[in-house]
Amino acid sequence: MAGEVDIIKEKIDIVDFLRSYIDLHPAGKNFKAICPFHSEKTASFVVSPERRMWHCFGSCGEGGDIFKFLMKHENLEFYEALKVLAERAGVPLRALDPQKQKEFGVLYDMHETAKDFYRKQLSSQTEALSYLRGRGLTDETMEEFGLGFSPGGEALTLFLLQSGYDMSNIVRGGLAQKNAQGLHRDKFYRRIMFPIYNSMGKVVAFTGRILPENGSPSTSSGDIPKYLNSPETPIFNKSHILYGFHVSKNHIAKSRTAFLVEGQMDVLMSWQSGIQNVVAVSGTGLTTHHLERLRRLADTLVLSFDNDTAGLKAMERSLDLFADFDFYARVASLGEHKDPADAAKADKGFLERAVLEARPAFSILFESYFKGISFSDVALKKRLVRRSLEKIRALKSSTERDIWTKELSGVSGISESGLLAEFASMSLPASPVSHAPDSVFTPTLLSRPRRIELIAKRLVSLALLRAPFFERLMEHREWLPKEYCSILEEPQGVPATELSMLGSYEFGGAKEEELLKEFDDLLSYIQLEFLKQRRNELRLKIRECERKGTNEESQTFLAEFHSLSREMDKLKR
Ligand SMILES: [Zn+2]
Repeated sequence: MAGEVDIIKEKIDIVDFLRSYIDLHPAGKNFKAICPFHSEKTASFVVSPERRMWHCFGSCGEGGDIFKFLMKHENLEFYEALKVLAERAGVPLRALDPQKQKEFGVLYDMHETAKDFYRKQLSSQTEALSYLRGRGLTDETMEEFGLGFSPGGEALTLFLLQSGYDMSNIVRGGLAQKNAQGLHRDKFYRRIMFPIYNSMGKVVAFTGRILPENGSPSTSSGDIPKYLNSPETPIFNKSHILYGFHVSKNHIAKSRTAFLVEGQMDVLMSWQSGIQNVVAVSGTGLTTHHLERLRRLADTLVLSFDNDTAGLKAMERSLDLFADFDFYARVASLGEHKDPADAAKADKGFLERAVLEARPAFSILFESYFKGISFSDVALKKRLVRRSLEKIRALKSSTERDIWTKELSGVSGISESGLLAEFASMSLPASPVSHAPDSVFTPTLLSRPRRIELIAKRLVSLALLRAPFFERLMEHREWLPKEYCSILEEPQGVPATELSMLGSYEFGGAKEEELLKEFDDLLSYIQLEFLKQRRNELRLKIRECERKGTNEESQTFLAEFHSLSREMDKLKR
């Protein structure tokens, strides 16, 4: 398989491939882009066509090949990425480990088969159909999202067995389970089925909703959940998958905004009423994985929390998480409606207006804090001001911090200078744990590189960008520390390519005359460092001679010492 991976990497042009995800600009023999994996304003993401790799020199420090990129960007497992890229490269995956092939391939195929089975069932289920239509769904939307119905018992299990899947895989995929009598039964019993797709549009799991009222036995006992999700499997990771993302991702990217809702019905009804940048989490709370994924496409999140106290509390909690990812959070008011699905059903244009008119989450939060506080309740006011300031302080963008401090001043009646003074008096938050990227590009803090090494690194990376610089530096390569000298002597080697990427990053947009000036400066710095080192060596030798009393030798060294000093003085001028 290693062979196949290499063939695929040869066949797919990394620049072409990445272009379909990010905006690349030439930088020397490399390319630069805004990093899709962390939030930044200047491009730190460098791609080397020569070495078929990418690296981010910004805060995330990520790097790798096309496999790593696709896995990270689409949240894929290695074998999923392999399948996608092999298809694109036209490379057959003969040598793919059959065990692994089975593990993933079978589960995907089986879920597709199950979806088709459920779909067929739905067409004859008047009760389920009338429930879905009653919630406002059109048949087209049901079709588009592959809605179905699970009759339960062992209907699906038998169908899958007949289709050639073995029981162990059916259980592993979470579609059947053993009952108390030790018999295999379908996991989903008389439920409306919502397929959950991964970002590539493959079915990886299901959510089943019970039929309302008389649909399910012993609902009165309350032990049957309204919504039931597939268990986590090798192809389904709840904390990564966003429901609806496979169809909405392009709309999210285009509008730089994601409309975040809670359930499947909310996604379907929003989609149907024309809001196509909508997603929901699948059977779990919002995780950092979800937000990471959205952040690559969007700057703004529009939420639809309920206007009640619980909704406000939930929003207040989420705001810190959003701040970590530098999202601008807005809230769409649902008015009297219970959720986005209901709102869309009652009034087709409602959601579109609500999203358009969504208000900043901070405005809503501050209003809820300070509404109805009496003038004399100073202790409460103090507490709330501090709480608001904590929220503001967590924001990454200083523009936003400024905007919300002004707003807070208006809402709370405390002057801006008063708020700033309060800011200053607040204790500092615990410093965030730094996750230093593990990369050859990151100088480790344990062994601080010497000045001469820092200069050499910069100089060599610049020399690798331009042939004339390279030639000039080659003439003086004895000035470089040994390891940089050998990098220069092997310009096709891995370290040289990495340094050339660093060069593209550092000097990408610079004008030629700036580059020349930088090169000349660096060259004289390194010469100076080199001479300094030589002079130190001489100083030791002279001292040694003086100790031994070999005066003649000492005179020669001393002459050389003075000549070096003069040379250095000249350079410094
Ligand atoms: Zn980055």
